[in-house]
Amino acid sequence: MKDGFRQQGKRNQLVELLREKGIIDEKVLSAIGSIPRHLFMDSSFEDHAYQDKAFPIGAGQTISQPFTVAFQTQLLEVKPDEKILEIGTGSGYQAAVLCELGAKLYTIERQQELFKKTQKFLDKLGYRPKYMSFGDGYKGLKEYAPFDKIIVTAGAPFVPKSLLSQLIVGGKLVIPVGENPQIMTLFDRKSQRSFDKQTFGEFRFVPMLENKS
Ligand code: SAH
Repeated sequence: MKDGFRQQGKRNQLVELLREKGIIDEKVLSAIGSIPRHLFMDSSFEDHAYQDKAFPIGAGQTISQPFTVAFQTQLLEVKPDEKILEIGTGSGYQAAVLCELGAKLYTIERQQELFKKTQKFLDKLGYRPKYMSFGDGYKGLKEYAPFDKIIVTAGAPFVPKSLLSQLIVGGKLVIPVGENPQIMTLFDRKSQRSFDKQTFGEFRFVPMLENKS
């Protein structure tokens, strides 16, 4: 697992590109500047790691495009020690960004092989989510709720009610909604019963799937 000057140089260029594309949260940019994204992909694809592109990670899944990761994370406005739930652990890259920002992270993945692989890998890199769950993100994680923030990293055909209900009042849910493309949507919980909703344009994600039965 090599990470040296060459990779750091490419990361710095990626950060500049994200700045040009409109990412302004310095903490998010600095997290992306320090996480070795190439290690989250098969070694033969190292040259693709610092391009602003999504990439296959096996089992029909992808590591999200860096701009998408940065954009979603910026919308979440993460503060250290916040309790955050991620749906779709995947490669663990978004999880690493959230850990780097000081979040107490809970993350759910429904593909068992990916779940096991990423659990080992994140631990090896020193990123330690509070809890990694093999399960169905549509249900959220009731036993650990409520959360300050929730981020969904797969395309959701609809907004799961359980996720809205597992937010604290004052909390935020960032979720790409729809089927190809998805509309990036931010919910702010204003009270027990009311949510503010804002949308931020089109993105493309692999679909959030119902649990395997
Ligand atoms: N955050 C990931 C993105 C992975 S792509 C990263 O940084 O690499 C989306 C992931 O969501 C896939 O790994 C997919 O298996 C997972 N997923 C799809 N439907 C899900 C569901 N219902 N519950 C939990 N995870 C789900």
